[in-house]
Amino acid sequence: MWRTKSILALVVGATMFAGALPLYRHRHFETSFVPGAAVTRIARLSDYGPGIKGTMADTSVYFLEGKEPGGKALLMANTHANEPAGFLASLIFLENAAVERGTLIIIPEFNNSAGRNTRPGDGYPLYYEIQTDWGAKKFRIGNREASPLDQWPDPDVYIHYPDKQLLSFIDVRNTNRTWPGRPDGPLMERVTYAAMEMMRKERVDIAIDFHGAETMFPVTNCIVAPEKSARIATLASMTVKAMEGFENHVEPSPSGFRGLSHREIGDFSDTLPFLLEAPLPFLDQPTGPKTVKLLLDGKDPFLLSLSKKKKLFVPYDEKGWPMEKRVGQHCSVALEILRQYSKKTPERAIKIGAVPRYSELVKNGVGHYFHNPEKKGEKS
Ligand SMILES: [Zn+2]
Repeated sequence: MWRTKSILALVVGATMFAGALPLYRHRHFETSFVPGAAVTRIARLSDYGPGIKGTMADTSVYFLEGKEPGGKALLMANTHANEPAGFLASLIFLENAAVERGTLIIIPEFNNSAGRNTRPGDGYPLYYEIQTDWGAKKFRIGNREASPLDQWPDPDVYIHYPDKQLLSFIDVRNTNRTWPGRPDGPLMERVTYAAMEMMRKERVDIAIDFHGAETMFPVTNCIVAPEKSARIATLASMTVKAMEGFENHVEPSPSGFRGLSHREIGDFSDTLPFLLEAPLPFLDQPTGPKTVKLLLDGKDPFLLSLSKKKKLFVPYDEKGWPMEKRVGQHCSVALEILRQYSKKTPERAIKIGAVPRYSELVKNGVGHYFHNPEKKGEKS
């Protein structure tokens, strides 16, 4: 009897270990990237909100300060860590941007805990690779919500602070529902609070939050902007359409739906917020398996047939919606928002060079703009 029991215990133990090891490795995997010559300082988000210090929610904040003074712009990616085009766009800025005027602040892994989480029930792959000029570069696929290992338990209903609006329980771990946050709230409220403090203390003029959204969801392929950002968003949208030939309409930020970056950042600071949505077929429900291929090329036969029935909110054909198009849109729209703001507010101008735009990304691919971590400082 004891022998059967010990064999069973061993089998259970070995199975648990084999299942847990890939998740442990995923959580501790670090994406290697090469901050460009424009990076003048690296801070931690906890420098602005000590409530996240020493937790997996703390994250790096890169400052790219130009020689000439001007305004300040913040780029945030991985608010939702399963929407990778924004993360790739933020790394393209981080590795390549030349800052001529003003300051660019980049947080590539805003919800750092969500980046280390996965969605095994949905069959998410753990990693994907991007081909570069010097080999394949590996990235982790995260989740929409922070890991329960970092914030637990969930309430039955998430009561938004300070509005008291009732939100889904899962949104307590969603950093696009926990704005503006508070210093002693649940961990994700402390993350958004630290970012609010950073924007207020650093006098950030513009905040751009990169996202991806389902092709069947109406708020996709767009710039979400509240009243105070609407004029610049409209000018940016019209300019990219006229000059670069892609659609990116403006969606007004609803004032009755709380906790979102494009609403609360504007209401709780002087910063002008913008949220950019690029289409992300991988997130749509009626697709084939959630493969790395689907994540990268956005090609899916079910979406194609739904497109023919006019069920999608974006143009969709056999070409799918490849990563380079999505990253290219993010880069161009962000650059255009900065350009329009600088034209309107010359004393707070932010001038950025050397970041590729849409047509260059579509032509050269995303990987072309990543530098080899083994050859720091030189372009491979
Ligand atoms: Zn999102």
